[in-house]
Amino acid sequence: MKTKVVKFGGSSLADAKHFVQVAKIIKADPARKYVVPSAPGKRFKEDTKVTDMLYTCYDMIKRQENIDEYYKKIVDRYNGIIEELGLKFDISGELEYVKNAMMHRSGRDYAASRGEYLNGLILAKYLGYTFIDAENVIFFRENGTFDAEKTNQAMAEELAKYPNAVIPGFYGVMPNGTIKTFSRGGSDITGSIVARAAEADLYENWTDVSGFMMADPRIIENPCAIETITYRELRELSYMGATVLHEDAIFPVRFAGIPINIRNTNRPEDAGTMIVSDTQDYDTEKVITGVAGKKGFSVISIEKDMMNAEIGFGRKVLEVLEDHDVSFEHLPSGIDTMSIVLSTDSIKGKRDKVVGSMRRAVKADSVAIEDGLALIAVVGRAMVKAKGTAARVFDALSEVGINIRMIDQGSSEISIIVGVDESDFEKGLAAIYREFVK
Ligand code: ASP
Repeated sequence: MKTKVVKFGGSSLADAKHFVQVAKIIKADPARKYVVPSAPGKRFKEDTKVTDMLYTCYDMIKRQENIDEYYKKIVDRYNGIIEELGLKFDISGELEYVKNAMMHRSGRDYAASRGEYLNGLILAKYLGYTFIDAENVIFFRENGTFDAEKTNQAMAEELAKYPNAVIPGFYGVMPNGTIKTFSRGGSDITGSIVARAAEADLYENWTDVSGFMMADPRIIENPCAIETITYRELRELSYMGATVLHEDAIFPVRFAGIPINIRNTNRPEDAGTMIVSDTQDYDTEKVITGVAGKKGFSVISIEKDMMNAEIGFGRKVLEVLEDHDVSFEHLPSGIDTMSIVLSTDSIKGKRDKVVGSMRRAVKADSVAIEDGLALIAVVGRAMVKAKGTAARVFDALSEVGINIRMIDQGSSEISIIVGVDESDFEKGLAAIYREFVK
């Protein structure tokens, strides 16, 4: 029989109604053996996620404030879910223990992780599945990095003991026994780790949208959903701000060749988006898979006559960036000019120093910084075969009167990046979308 690992996000487990729906989805397919829950998320727009409430508790304790009243809101949320589900389950001892442990300074990550831990206990009870505490199977190293191999071995051994189990997302354990979490949204990573260890056929990631959209719905009204996307395309799009899945969630399953299916808990009939291996050739009729972008970039322009003949020029420029601990995004260059595109934030407070060092390092004729650049990434594995894609991108922008300030096409030909004025960003992105998606 096939094995699927299913992860449910916070909005999918925000209240008892959603728990019922989640259980229905799990029980509808016997392959859905291992379940990774997030902490209860928002029930309505102004609501607060349990994780955020736990962070608040931690901060209050640090300020030596009394958390009794505030913590009761968390207690009420979990008890509310249990009561409404009609579960015979007394979680009050656990809740009391967590509160005490927090008050005895068990750490910020410990506090945050309890959202998943408690939710996992309830879900395991409701489904009748074994609860596997992530602190026994997910390991971090002394320096705080995730220990993938140790985890994989321990997780695989533990999973093999049970036909079904619930493993809470978001956290693991340090060598000294303290709890450590992944960064925010990290339950996606746990799901991926479990999928790898279970040698799953599929990692289903259930959320509140029907997959990845071809463009940001805040810019393009009702964008088309992406049916299939490769891991590499996804990296390009997420990097440019398209978020549905935690960036690091890709790695464990990618190497194991396990596809990820993004699904909508509230619309299980939708197929969602399949994220697949780059090596397999999933044909697509569409030239582009998606378009995404970000504002907030700057360009450092360096000019020097005969720059092209000067050996070691690029290295000296990059050394200056390294010395100031600044990373760059793109490096388009001409014969006597070189431009460095980087995020405006990355040079905050160091602008004059960077410019000065750059001027001295390469004896430049001029070095100047210009802000207000937005980058748009047009991503598609089918672009390699389709001729004239770049021309279509440029035409679409010029038709709406947008000046292109920078162009970069990776040699892998899965993306074309254009830089435009921030004020042209939305208009430019819409023009490109219209050109390719009719
Ligand atoms: N509950 C955590 C957060 O809000 C982790 C997660 O939901 O994936 O970031």
